[in-house]
Amino acid sequence: MLTVEHLVKQYPQAQSPVLNDISFQVPKGKVFVVLGPSGSGKSTLLRTIAGLEPIQGGRILLDGQVVETGHPLGKRSGGPGGLMSGSRSSDLRTRIGMVFQSYDLFPNRTVLDNVTLAPVLVQKRKRDQARQEALELLDRVGLADRRDAWPSQLSGGQRQRVAICRALILHPEIMLFDEVTAALDPEMVREVLQVILELADQGLTMMIVTHEMAFARGIADHIVLLDGGSLVEQSDDPEAFFTHPATDRAQRFLSTFT
Ligand code: ADP
Ligand code: MG
Repeated sequence: MLTVEHLVKQYPQAQSPVLNDISFQVPKGKVFVVLGPSGSGKSTLLRTIAGLEPIQGGRILLDGQVVETGHPLGKRSGGPGGLMSGSRSSDLRTRIGMVFQSYDLFPNRTVLDNVTLAPVLVQKRKRDQARQEALELLDRVGLADRRDAWPSQLSGGQRQRVAICRALILHPEIMLFDEVTAALDPEMVREVLQVILELADQGLTMMIVTHEMAFARGIADHIVLLDGGSLVEQSDDPEAFFTHPATDRAQRFLSTFT
């Protein structure tokens, strides 16, 4: 359902692309895990898919519909009717949800308001209905009793669970998770991973960037290794990837975790 074809991403001031000819597919209901060392381009990849960064080559499709096409640097305004980055319709944007490493909740809004703001303001849904669904979502992640708290009163793990609710309420067709547990104390990692595991069980399509190898191994349907902006290994047999990686690069990468 998500298709990435020959994606090339280069930042404006950079000498060379940070993502080079990336192609893959994420089928509906599957969990696609992206591994790779720091600086390999994982966050950039998720951000281009979420529509937060323009791309310079290739295209991104959602259910066969082109949502992003590459435009060479400096020529973005001259494309012949192409879909300009940064101008994805709000409808298109809400089809892809993303949760980041740093909890980006609105600090001056309560937990409940953090979750209901976008459905009410962006999707023009009725406030009562949005509150109802927000409370159901908060209940699912064990935070119904914190609905009136301020983000500053929550632990990091609780904030990430609110951030997940805030993305889910928009009913995304695919969720992107970028190292959502990397900034958490160890005892909070599990409560966040547990929520993601439950979403996988419910059949939500997901792309997950993580350094939690045991979690990756348990949840992945498909696994890729990104290095230096290229996909150096792809596998739809995670168990085989972890026990017998095909490439030296993957072997070396995995050995840094044991
Ligand atoms: P990862 O998430 O795997 O650590 P990133 O996608 O954050 O990798 O970064 C990939 C490369 O792109 C790095 O070399 C990084 O310095 C560079 N980079 C990331 N963001 C920007 C930016 N906004 N402008 C310029 N270069 C960037
Ligand atoms: Mg990153």
